[in-house]
Amino acid sequence: MRSSLGPRGLGPRDEGRPEGPRPERRVLLFEEMDEEGMELLRSECELVRLNPPGERPDYSEERIVAAARDCDALVIRANGRVTRRILRECPELLVVGRHGVGVEHIDVDAAAELGVWVVNTPRANVGAVAEHALGMMLALAKRFPEADRACRSGDFSARYRLKGVELKGRTLGLVGWGRIGRRLGELAGAIGMKVIHSDPASPESVPRDDLLRRSDVVALHVPLTPSTRRLIDGGRLSLLKPGAILLNTSRGGVLDEGALIDALRNGRLAGAGLDVFEKEPLPDDSELARLPNVILTPHVAAHTREALRKMSLVAKDVLRVLRGEEPANAVVRPDAPRRPA
Ligand code: NAD
Repeated sequence: MRSSLGPRGLGPRDEGRPEGPRPERRVLLFEEMDEEGMELLRSECELVRLNPPGERPDYSEERIVAAARDCDALVIRANGRVTRRILRECPELLVVGRHGVGVEHIDVDAAAELGVWVVNTPRANVGAVAEHALGMMLALAKRFPEADRACRSGDFSARYRLKGVELKGRTLGLVGWGRIGRRLGELAGAIGMKVIHSDPASPESVPRDDLLRRSDVVALHVPLTPSTRRLIDGGRLSLLKPGAILLNTSRGGVLDEGALIDALRNGRLAGAGLDVFEKEPLPDDSELARLPNVILTPHVAAHTREALRKMSLVAKDVLRVLRGEEPANAVVRPDAPRRPA
């Protein structure tokens, strides 16, 4: 039986729902996603939005608990958290779908204990993120940001000052040799770079500090976990070759941003490409935004049309769990799942 704890979905009803009886199942969407995934969910469920369109989004625990109380599934993107309290106080919840890969904002231990599945889309954004990192690497090596600014401001003589580097024959060091790291390795190999990696799961791994000393470009592709938080701190940055480039498209917490700013300011590093930050959105007064040799993107590496579509298909696994079937990509497979109502 459905609980009668609280309002049936605080958020607004879904406009795209077909006419007919209300489906039994309800899915709470933290944020909008590609229409293909929404359509799949609508075919079997009622969609409930966490935040009404046009209003200032609220991702507080209170709001999520109130909205999720009567829902069977949640779909979360980058914003908001799925805490133990939310999982405990929403007894109908069977599954949390993560549109994307990283699950550091979901309490996976609590989900496992409380019998809630967590599913994600591990392959959906591999190409998008690897290409984004490649783009940043090329742009920094060729000094695109400074050249573009100079050209726009009428400073054509910048051509005598701005010297890029060629990447062929240089070493790319990948910290994390998972799906994205390996794809970037393939792409970099195609332009003649030597590729090395450090990853405890890989038999060909080189020790991390060796990698940092040997690489001309270092790219971070590890998940954010207690053991990778501030993995690249001031001490590790000081191991990098003078003139090296650093790329971070993984998570801001993997890198000590203050130490990076120092290394960029004092000219030790040639540049950095960052898609992710310790604090997101990036604060207006961030020192990073004042540095010329940095490319900043607002956590968009995975936001290609193709990847957004594929990430929305987390809907397939959400529906599988709701039907009592085996999902394809489980991050948490509870020992004793909550029984479908
Ligand atoms: P993956 O799980 O395929 O690979 C991660 C790899 O990191 C694994 O091989 C693991 O063994 C390795 N690893 C773990 N701890 C390590 C350590 N201390 N040192 C070295 N290696 C370590 O994940 P993926 O698909 O390649 O994605 C990597 C990360 O990129 C994700 O966890 C996510 O945080 C981030 N990401 C960011 C975006 C974005 O929009 N910027 C999009 C997708 C993924």
